[in-house]
Amino acid sequence: MKMIVKLKPVFKDYLWGGEKLRTHYGKATDMMPLAESWELSCHPDGQSKVASGTNSDLTLTEYVEMHPGTLGHKARNFDRFPMLVKFIDAQLDLSVQVHPDDAYGLKVENELGKTEVWYILDAEADAKLIMGFERETNKEEVKEAIKNGNLLDLLHQERVQPGDVFFIESGTVHGIGAGITLIEIQQNSNITYRVYDYDRVGKDGNKRKLDVEKALDVMDFKPSSQPERKGATIASCEYFHAEIHPVNQDSEFQITEDSFQGITCIDGALKCSQGQTTIELIKGESAFITAENNTYTVTGQGQLLVVSIK
Ligand SMILES: [Zn+2]
Repeated sequence: MKMIVKLKPVFKDYLWGGEKLRTHYGKATDMMPLAESWELSCHPDGQSKVASGTNSDLTLTEYVEMHPGTLGHKARNFDRFPMLVKFIDAQLDLSVQVHPDDAYGLKVENELGKTEVWYILDAEADAKLIMGFERETNKEEVKEAIKNGNLLDLLHQERVQPGDVFFIESGTVHGIGAGITLIEIQQNSNITYRVYDYDRVGKDGNKRKLDVEKALDVMDFKPSSQPERKGATIASCEYFHAEIHPVNQDSEFQITEDSFQGITCIDGALKCSQGQTTIELIKGESAFITAENNTYTVTGQGQLLVVSIK
């Protein structure tokens, strides 16, 4: 069994996407626009595939089923693969949206809730995102603002630059702004309740569906605050732990029986070696490493995102 395998992503052509995942992140697809690249995914809406070794072309779900134990001990606490890692390129503003927590998601949608973290990779000058409310508000006021088309006045908007991190707990209203490219680590869920979509129409000529009632059910009306960032760790919650490491000389990384690791090269060009296996990861590429007490070596120049269950 190969312990480290490269992954092939799944692409999404949502209407707000752009060109940068192709031009800056090496994504080989004709898809236009190119909005998302799902790097580490076992979600039924888009599964990454194994792209190296003898199991090439299996979906990650099939690979995990074929190799019991590959996810590690901590994965036993979850009834499905807990996380999803994706690149997002917003040429246009994404809808203003909110995601439910697990209790609501499982009850109403039979899907997990969604807590997510964003690591900003590129941002055009003046690029902004939406993150919670500017001040404490309530259901009535928000409902009225949505009806009158002035919800944006209540929302907290923030300028961003590369390297910024935003932790978005389920229930937090949010929106990625035009000109931002980021990598998102999220719970394994695809439930989004839109509350405002800039009155745009989709490819079919219709406006995309809003879910105002459900959104108001799950929304947190307080201004959101950001947890303090410690060292390489950009986020740590029960569903995922994420670290970003600069690599400029041979670096040794640890892995344990507790959890698999998903690794993504977010800048530069790297080589990852474990035992007899070496894979190359250039900017934009990802790999999956089986949980076991072991080490692997990363060489080259760049930045590596490492995700696991803690
Ligand atoms: Zn979201």
